[in-house]
Amino acid sequence: MTEPLVSVRGLVKEFPVKGGILQRTLATVRAVAGVDIDIARGETLGLVGESGCGKSTLGRMLVRLLDPTEGTVTFDGNDLANAEGAELKRLRRDIQMIFQDPFSSLDPRAPVGDSIAEGLRIHNIGDSAERRRRVSDMLGLVGLRPEQARRFPHEFSGGQRQRIGIARALILRPRFVVADEPVSALDVSVQAQVLNLLRELQSELDLTVLFIAHNLAVVEHVSDRVAVMYLGKIVEVSDQASLYRYPTHPYTEALLSAIPIPDPALRRERIVLEGDVPSPLDPPSGCTFHTRCPIADDEICPVAVPALLPRSDDTDHLAACHLRTGQHASSSSH
Ligand code: SF4
Repeated sequence: MTEPLVSVRGLVKEFPVKGGILQRTLATVRAVAGVDIDIARGETLGLVGESGCGKSTLGRMLVRLLDPTEGTVTFDGNDLANAEGAELKRLRRDIQMIFQDPFSSLDPRAPVGDSIAEGLRIHNIGDSAERRRRVSDMLGLVGLRPEQARRFPHEFSGGQRQRIGIARALILRPRFVVADEPVSALDVSVQAQVLNLLRELQSELDLTVLFIAHNLAVVEHVSDRVAVMYLGKIVEVSDQASLYRYPTHPYTEALLSAIPIPDPALRRERIVLEGDVPSPLDPPSGCTFHTRCPIADDEICPVAVPALLPRSDDTDHLAACHLRTGQHASSSSH
C-alpha cells in the first residue's frame, strides 16, 4: 500500500460506567480494544460487525467526534487525535461523517439548503450567492433538484433525507468520509439507490471512505477492502474479493453464511452462532470469540489471545485465529 491517508495505531477507547447517587465510576468498558489499520487514498474500507462491537466508536474517533484513550490517528501525516485550534479546524474541513439518521442532524425548522450550507458558513467560504450556488450543485450531484433547497426536512422521504445528509457531508469537498450505517434505516428498495450514489460519488470526488455496516451484504459492492470487528478488535481484514471467497475467521464465516444467496447451487450452510455477543464490560479470556466459536479448541482458545496474522497463501489477507492463521493452523484449513 502506498502512503495511507488514514493510519490508526494501537487505538483504544474506554468509557466509564457510572452508578449510585454519587455517580462513581463502577467499571470501565473497552469499546475499542487496540486497533491497527491503514486506509489508502481513494479506498473504501468496509467495517462490519454486530451492534456493540465498537465499530461506530472507532469511526467517531477517526472524525475526532471522540478522543481516544490510547493510540494514534494520523490523517495525511497529521496527528488528528492531538490537533487543536486552527489545525483542527483545517483538518475538520477534510474529514466528514454521514450518519445513519440524517433527520436528527437536520434542523426541522430550517430549509434543507441552510443545513447543507452550514459547513460553508462555519468555514467562511463564499458569500451567500456563492453558497447558494454550491448548495444547488451539490443537490444536483446527489440526485435532488436545486429548488428543493427551500423545502423542509419533513417534506422528504427517508432516501431523500439521506441524500441531503450526504450533500451536507460533502459540501466542503472533504477527502475522507466516515459513513456510519448510512443505509440501515432505509427500505431495502432504497438502500441500493443510496449505495450506488455513494459509490459514484466516491469515484467522482476521489473520496477515501470508511463505510460502517452491521451486515456483510451491504458493504460487498461498495468496498475495496473489508475489516470485520468483534468485541472491539479487528478479527479479519482483506481485499473484498478474498474476504467473500475465502472467509478465514469463523466469525466472518458465520456472518457470510447469514447472507441469502438466490442461486441454490451456491448456497452456503447457515452457521448459527450460539448465545449473544458477550458484554464488553467482561470480555471472555483468550480469543474473545471462543464462547461462540463452532471450532474453538478448549486448550488454546480460552487462554491465548490470537494475533492478526496473514494467511499462508495471501499475505494481504489477515485473520486472528489460532487454528486458521496462528501457529496451530493446519494446511488443511482452506
Ligand atoms: Fe475460534 Fe479459537 Fe479461532 Fe478464536 S482462535 S476464532 S475461538 S478457533
